[in-house]
Amino acid sequence: MVNCSWCDLSEEDKRFQVYESTFWSVFLSDEQDYVGRCILVLKRHCASLPELTEDEWEELRGLVCKVETCLKTVLGAALCNWSCLMNSFHKESEPDPHLHIHVRPRYDRPVMINGNIYTDSEFGHHYALDKNGPIPAEDKEEVLDRLKEWLSR
Ligand SMILES: [Zn+2]
Repeated sequence: MVNCSWCDLSEEDKRFQVYESTFWSVFLSDEQDYVGRCILVLKRHCASLPELTEDEWEELRGLVCKVETCLKTVLGAALCNWSCLMNSFHKESEPDPHLHIHVRPRYDRPVMINGNIYTDSEFGHHYALDKNGPIPAEDKEEVLDRLKEWLSR
C-alpha cells in the first residue's frame, strides 16, 4: 500500500474525532455544509463494503444507530443521508481506496449554533453538492464538543 492518507491521519484530522470503536473511527467532516456532517472511517485499509469482516459489519450496524441517534438528539436532525461513494479514489490511475462512509444530517427546521442559524433549504430532496462554504471555526468547535459529549456517554 502506498502512502494512504486515511491510514496515516494528521494530528489536525485526529482532533476532529468524535468517537472511536474497535474497528471504526468517527470524525466531524471538514465540510459542514450540513451541520454535524460526519465520516465513519474503517481503521484498517480496505477497499469496499463487500470486503468487511462479519465483526466490522456488526460494529458498523451499531455505529450507524448510535451516530444517527446522536445527530437527531443533539442537533435535531429529522433523518440522515448515508453514503459510501469512494469516487475520488478512482480518479487515480491505480485506485487504492480506503473505506469510509459519509453521514449528512438533514433538517426540517433551522439549527442554531452559537446564535447562527443553519437551514436545510433542500430538505426532502437529494443533498446539495454545492451548498455553502465552511462554517465559522467556533461553530465547528461547538458541534464537535456536543457530538463528542453525547457519543462518549
Ligand atoms: Zn488506508
